[in-house]
Amino acid sequence: MILGSHVSFGSSQLLGSTKQALSYGANTFMFYTGAPQNTIRKPLDDNLTKEALALMQEEGIDIKNVICHAPYIINLANKENYDAWQFSINFLKQEIKRVAILGVKYIVVHPGNYLKQDLMVALDNIAMALNEILNNDYDVMILLETMAGKGTECGKNLGEIKFIIDKVKYKDKIGVCLDTCHLNDSGVDIAKFDDYLTEFDNIIGINKIKCLHLNDSKNIIASHKDRHANIGYGTIGFDNLINCLYNPRLSNIPKILETPYIEEYAPYKYEIKMLKEKVFNPNLENDVKNS
Ligand code: FE
Ligand code: FE
Ligand code: ZN
Repeated sequence: MILGSHVSFGSSQLLGSTKQALSYGANTFMFYTGAPQNTIRKPLDDNLTKEALALMQEEGIDIKNVICHAPYIINLANKENYDAWQFSINFLKQEIKRVAILGVKYIVVHPGNYLKQDLMVALDNIAMALNEILNNDYDVMILLETMAGKGTECGKNLGEIKFIIDKVKYKDKIGVCLDTCHLNDSGVDIAKFDDYLTEFDNIIGINKIKCLHLNDSKNIIASHKDRHANIGYGTIGFDNLINCLYNPRLSNIPKILETPYIEEYAPYKYEIKMLKEKVFNPNLENDVKNS
């Protein structure tokens, strides 16, 4: 099982992220190369990268399972604000270069928000942007994340994701990241996750799924809200999330927790423990606070 959580990428960069992941008992992780809310990025420090890769090798973390997440403010859908659209394209081009240096293979991107445009125009804009970004220069794949459909989010169902992927030229450079909270909030019944995977396979092809964000949801199915809950503490529930995590059709892809902090403490060490043991921890809050 390849299981980790999102971690920070602070002043010690990939080395800090790796140490944080190891402290949670994880064998992979997801990071933002800077703050998720902005696009300010510091240059990579080669020594820190080398040290991180050595530590990962020692501890059994395969860099091929490590995921990068693009910042939220990137919007490939809105070409009406042409400067911002072009900025998003250029930022992702740079980001692909940066993660390629680290040896990272996957970067998760939210497809974008259509805002005042027609949805179909927006989906076209996303595909057009991806065709400007992707080429064969780097061995990095963009993963479109399945979204909750909050506000004007694109990518809230398989039809929209398929529409985009069909228009992308470099098919081996585009994949999908499933997010269980977003799926639930978009209207997918996670209790029938296997049916969803079958549908995904029929429409897009299951081999396109390269990452799973494993989160519970604070809201009911089809709420279009996108508020993550701790594992077993939301409307999806522990058993359904266990079934996603252990689904044999997704056995070789990384699974990433993006559940909320409990006060100022990361819950991941305890969530990973209960997921590995397949036993729900009703004292998560106290365990996390007392650690
Ligand atoms: Fe995301
Ligand atoms: Fe996610
Ligand atoms: Zn989310």
